[in-house]
Amino acid sequence: MREIRLASRPSGWPTADNFDLVELPTPEPGPGQVLVRNRFMSVDPYMRGRMNDVESYVAPFQVGKPLDGAAIGEVIASDVAEVPVGATVLHGLGWRDHAVVDAGHVRVVDPAAAPTPSAYLGLLGMTGLTAYVGLLDIAQFREGDTVFVSGAAGAVGSVVGQIAKLRGAKRVIGSAGSAEKVRYLVDELGFDAAFNYKDAPVREQLRAAAPDGIDVYFDNVGGDHLEAAITSLNKFGRVALCGAIAQYNDTAPPAAPRNLALAIGKELTLRGFIVGNHSKRMPDFVAEVGGWLRAGQISAQETVVEGLENAPEAFLGLMRGENTGKMVIKL
Ligand code: NDP
Repeated sequence: MREIRLASRPSGWPTADNFDLVELPTPEPGPGQVLVRNRFMSVDPYMRGRMNDVESYVAPFQVGKPLDGAAIGEVIASDVAEVPVGATVLHGLGWRDHAVVDAGHVRVVDPAAAPTPSAYLGLLGMTGLTAYVGLLDIAQFREGDTVFVSGAAGAVGSVVGQIAKLRGAKRVIGSAGSAEKVRYLVDELGFDAAFNYKDAPVREQLRAAAPDGIDVYFDNVGGDHLEAAITSLNKFGRVALCGAIAQYNDTAPPAAPRNLALAIGKELTLRGFIVGNHSKRMPDFVAEVGGWLRAGQISAQETVVEGLENAPEAFLGLMRGENTGKMVIKL
């Protein structure tokens, strides 16, 4: 089997040198364990934070040890009757092609209920739930709201925009980093407006796209996007603070937002959240989003990179914006 280890900690943007691909004998499952042949693994922006040696809501990766993260695969050997050989399972030992996992740490899923097993890493998995919880529970989305979402062509953002449309938003606006992504948002996902944040200041482009202001901002980016949204938010506007990818590779504190005091007079709510603390919403999420998926009303676009050896480059590509929809690695 092969696995990818953290070779060293990056300062600023990671490079290929921070990762090591190691070959090992394939292990046997011990008591209470299963051996999984991973088919897909996830790369996610939060993994960048785990490369730093800092206290956070999730433990840092250890130098010399394998990285981990969500993966889906088939059980090829099992010591546990409830998780038999042939079962498709979701678990947390990605960044390797085979994994020995405690049976209590796998979730058996139905591969037939998804267009591809990798959907359990995206639309039907962590990023889909993040969109659902962040929009509906954290930002308290209501029918008739005007919604702005940044990182709109990514895994979380693309689902936020689609859920907002399906739940009766008045207007959905997205920002993304290329003309092609802007076209995708409007032509394929049904956004009412979208802009390329690299073309002109976000504040100007948002004001033009939302002349009557916005009620909800779903923040995947932070920085100047958050500052622009605070300016455009209407009275009692709500912000879901989901991510701040613009600053994950920065070595200095962000320069924006500089206008937070506007939140006082506008009586805004800005609320952060961690999806892992909202798993109780999983059944509602699976019922509603799964229903839209079966009805062909929601898209599960993915960017698929092949080969474990290409996972570090795909992870860097994710932070450079090379993905549309969820970035996954086929193993
Ligand atoms: P995405 O699929 O959205 O991929 C990341 C995208 O970020 C890239 O495609 C790129 O798109 C965009 N990006 C990169 N740098 C910048 C920048 N400087 N300014 C603006 N956009 C940038 O990733 P996810 O959907 O998995 O995650 C989206 C956000 O949600 C992240 O911030 C992540 O940390 C957060 N998150 C938070 C969770 C929580 O529990 N709070 C759970 C899951 C994710 P582009 O081409 O448009 O620049």
